Amino acid sequence: MIKYIKQVVDPVDVADSVICDVCKKEYSFKGEEGMEAQEFQHIRVNGGYGSVFGDGAVWAVDICQHCFKEIMGKYLRDVTPIYSEDLAFKIACDLTEEGRSK
Ligand SMILES: [Zn+2]
Repeated sequence: MIKYIKQVVDPVDVADSVICDVCKKEYSFKGEEGMEAQEFQHIRVNGGYGSVFGDGAVWAVDICQHCFKEIMGKYLRDVTPIYSEDLAFKIACDLTEEGRSK
């Protein structure tokens, strides 16, 4: 038999919303805006020796996906990983194509 006791949990801070540092729009982590809040980029820059940001300085920005795309979109490269199942499928297709060409 298991005996149960009432456990009191200390209150903890839970993220409720996030504000874009560029457009200043606030997105709740709850409801329909939750997906938007999850797509935020949270960038931290740690300046090292010789950094333009200052040695030992730490800078941060929270930016919504829309502003991030608008500002950085033209510099982004698609580096979507090829999953092993996709790779196996591609190899199988290549082998099939190789067999047909002979
Ligand atoms: Zn924004």
